[in-house]
Amino acid sequence: MIKIKALNKEFLSGTDNTFHALKDINLEIKDSEILVLKGISGSGKSTLLSIIGAIMKPTSGSVEVDGENIVSYTDYFASTYRESRVGFITQSFHLFDAFSVRENLFAALANSALSLVEIQERITEVSSTANISHKIDAPVTTLSGGEKQRCIIARALINRPEIILCDEPTANLDRENSLAFVEVVKRLKEMKKTVLIATHDTIFDDLDFVDRVVQMKDGELE
Ligand code: ADP
Ligand code: MG
Repeated sequence: MIKIKALNKEFLSGTDNTFHALKDINLEIKDSEILVLKGISGSGKSTLLSIIGAIMKPTSGSVEVDGENIVSYTDYFASTYRESRVGFITQSFHLFDAFSVRENLFAALANSALSLVEIQERITEVSSTANISHKIDAPVTTLSGGEKQRCIIARALINRPEIILCDEPTANLDRENSLAFVEVVKRLKEMKKTVLIATHDTIFDDLDFVDRVVQMKDGELE
């Protein structure tokens, strides 16, 4: 369960101007809920996901994950939380281009205490979920945009996080790959993951496995 209470984020712009990107956000997200966060560009979606993922600190307010306020975490605990409990699916997360899909997944587990056999099992599991098994030994440079996205999905799942944060996951995908991504979300629902999708893509409208759609506007939830 994620409980967001009275969350505010102000950015300094210029010398003494502040920009209020999130305004008193209150939101509860249940375990294994699929939540779509809609809103036009600039409404605060990425800022909210970054705070839930402990990439960014809010100006005030709290984000409780299973009763622990992640906002108060030190850098060390924040990075442990990110690595063990959160998977990020965004366009801007870079892959190692010269490496294969398998090597990228392997690299994502470099700090883990898993055995080689366990790592291989994980790689098989996530590449299947993300539909990239057939290109597992292909260098990333040879992949299409949609296949790179699948590699990013597989990497986001490799630590078996319970929270998956998706920021504009279909922004650079064609219709076919966007529909394939929708299928991945359906699978994540079956796996009982908690999934947040920030998007303005109408492809996420009216999906029966989406539990809730919330609208953001000018930093506020409507
Ligand atoms: P969305 O993801 O909905 O497009 P964002 O969360 O990226 O919105 O941004 C919300 C608002 O906060 C925007 O007006 C954006 O310009 C501003 N903003 C985001 N990051 C920063 C930053 N680092 N410094 C100043 N303003 C920022
Ligand atoms: Mg954004």
